[in-house]
This record gives sequence, structure tokens and C-alpha cells, in this order.
Amino acid sequence: MDNGMIRKYEKAKLYAEERERISIQSMAVSFDGKNNPHTVEFTNDGWKCDCHFFETRNRCSHTMALEIILDQMIPEKVAQ
Ligand SMILES: [Zn+2]
Repeated sequence: MDNGMIRKYEKAKLYAEERERISIQSMAVSFDGKNNPHTVEFTNDGWKCDCHFFETRNRCSHTMALEIILDQMIPEKVAQ
């Protein structure tokens, strides 16, 4: 890495510790569940998962796992 890139990498490491700077607006994830693979999406409307549990509860182990992983990066009003 050249010096310019090294400085950017140092800055990136600091940013990575300041999760509150990051606000995820949308994403799609392929989740390898215990029984089946699932597609989990996050948009302005909140979470969506194609598993059966999510159909009735609007939250499931897959979305909650991602909430834990993405701590502080999901807008609070959408995460609940
Ligand atoms: Zn699910």
C-alpha cells in the first residue's frame, strides 16, 4: 500500500469503531439457516424474511441475528 492508502486505512479502522456514523438504508442477505437458506431484506419499510416464523411475527431469528451484527447501524425506529 502507498502512503495515501495507508492513511485511508488507518482512518477506516477508526470509522469501523464508530458504528453510529453508519446508517444502513437497504440491503439483501442470503442467510444459511439451520433448516433452509433464507433471504432477508432491509428497506425503509423495515425487515423482511421469507421464513415461516416471520410471516406471523414480523421478526425472526434471522432478522434478530442481523440486528445484533449490525448494532447501531440500523435506524432505531425501523429496527423495533
Ligand atoms: Zn427468518
